[in-house]
Amino acid sequence: MQGQEYDYEKLKEVGRVSWEAAQYGKSLVKPGASVLDACEKIEAFIRGKGMQLAFPANISANERAAHYTATTSDASVFGDRDVVKVDVGARQGDVLGDCAVTVDLSGDNAKMVEAAGEALEAGLAGVRAGARLNDIGREIARVAEKRGFKPIRNLGGHAVEYGELHASIFIPNYDNGDTTRLEEGQVIALEPFLTTGDGFVVDSDVVQIFQLNGPVAARSPEARKLAEIVEREHKTYPFAIRWLAKEFASEFGIRKGLNELSGLGVLQSFPALVERGHGIVAQAEKEAIVEKDSCAVVTK
Ligand code: MN
Ligand code: MN
Repeated sequence: MQGQEYDYEKLKEVGRVSWEAAQYGKSLVKPGASVLDACEKIEAFIRGKGMQLAFPANISANERAAHYTATTSDASVFGDRDVVKVDVGARQGDVLGDCAVTVDLSGDNAKMVEAAGEALEAGLAGVRAGARLNDIGREIARVAEKRGFKPIRNLGGHAVEYGELHASIFIPNYDNGDTTRLEEGQVIALEPFLTTGDGFVVDSDVVQIFQLNGPVAARSPEARKLAEIVEREHKTYPFAIRWLAKEFASEFGIRKGLNELSGLGVLQSFPALVERGHGIVAQAEKEAIVEKDSCAVVTK
């Protein structure tokens, strides 16, 4: 928002569609249902509202905390004991939505899912102009720990600026000592992740989501074609390999292009994140506008 008047009306529309998409996504998570089908239906739902995607539909199960989206020919289905995070965002131009819900298919992890929701609400209750980031984090951790779970320390909320989802500030899920204060009018997302594991995530070698950070002069035909498509259709927003499949004869060509762009230093990758101690993970996320004495949730 720096120096630019935020279009809050547009943000509220994007927030509403993001939230509806998350609820719709929740309804698609059933034992035996296809993960690929769920991702594609959620994305079609958002496009069907006349909006674009802020990022590919993230559907991450169990110890996988975030950043998984279906592969091009993903044959996986939801298991009847899965704990599934559905993290989605609509986009209108450069105005971005971001929210997440967790589905517990067995019911055995209901306490953790509930606790993630409570931690989120406790965090939001402390959001106002002048609130310190570490105070919000401390409150999230307090609720998580009271319920017997660990907050994941190296994941957290963030500011949402025009054209940039993970902008400027990191809002911790514990007291990390950062006394930076929130400002009136700022748009933020809070996202507690709770776990039965160590409370940290690490990169896995599964990488389906990428982002091109600027224009590039690529050499190979694959990289040139890839850069051209991404610059035109996805700009500097995250995209999935799956989104490029129709334009390439094989995934080999896509990977070859991605490797070259990566070597040129313009490609960011988002590996699927897994809990370090293989703990199960639950997440809850909402996006809100910071107001003088409270906040206004937009993903509802
Ligand atoms: Mn987020
Ligand atoms: Mn998210």
